[in-house]
Amino acid sequence: MDDPSRLDLVAQAAAWLGESRTAIALTGAGISTDSGIPDFRSPTGVWATQQPVYFPDFLKSAEARFELWRQKSLAFQEFRAAKPNRGHEVLARWQGSRRLARVVTQNIDGLHTEAGCQRVVEVHGSARDVVCLGCQQRWPAGPWAERFEQSQAVPACPDCGGLLKWGIVLFGEPLDPGVWREAEHLAQQADLVLAIGSSLVVEPAASLPRIAKRRGARLILINGEETPLDDEADLVIRGGISETLTVIDARLTS
Ligand code: NAD
Repeated sequence: MDDPSRLDLVAQAAAWLGESRTAIALTGAGISTDSGIPDFRSPTGVWATQQPVYFPDFLKSAEARFELWRQKSLAFQEFRAAKPNRGHEVLARWQGSRRLARVVTQNIDGLHTEAGCQRVVEVHGSARDVVCLGCQQRWPAGPWAERFEQSQAVPACPDCGGLLKWGIVLFGEPLDPGVWREAEHLAQQADLVLAIGSSLVVEPAASLPRIAKRRGARLILINGEETPLDDEADLVIRGGISETLTVIDARLTS
């Protein structure tokens, strides 16, 4: 990163982060591509090869349930093998040194927690869990994924016989109200939002930066391509996420 104008942007981001008291990061799939997990909307992303399963279809169609289990069992193997990258590590370090209050993520891969972030707010749930829609019990996904792969049959809840779904929020499914309240609260309290690696088109998560801005927060966007919020941001840094966060971190600690 030797473009002088980019170095200015990085220096500004580091200065604002240094001044901030209640900064949050809002992350999307782009922070995990350097860990080998494809995002949704890039040309090599998940939607280039797969159709999403919608929640109403999951409820009413055995075929849709099978398709979700097929897709998520494969994705789970990918998540389990993936390791946090420098971007995840920088955010965890910033939280540890209180430069960052919390990480709110749209990601379902669990890599922020694996990198050492505490109390990550996962607005779209976690692909490391399976949940029963009947009795709400949750289990780690590993044994269920293995069982599905061997039997090629969608499992039922062993306790109540209810539908077992991956612990993620599907399109057309409401967010967990408690999780959303926490995300909204953090956005309202934030004096700085770093929106990182998200196309910022999936609602309501995409509205969190606006909620923060209405309360006077600064907004820094770090992404490889344009987003609908670029015009409202105080700073837009276009570039690779791991590299950009590493350079901001070096500025902060130098
Ligand atoms: P998205 O795919 O819509 O957008 C990702 C953005 O990151 C794109 O604008 C892309 O250009 C950018 N990007 C990708 N890699 C980058 C890199 N290395 N450096 C800089 N920019 C990069 O993802 P989103 O906005 O998070 O979409 C929301 C949905 O995607 C969420 O529901 C989330 O659950 C889901 N998702 C999550 C994962 C994951 O958990 N890792 C993976 C795929 C999709």
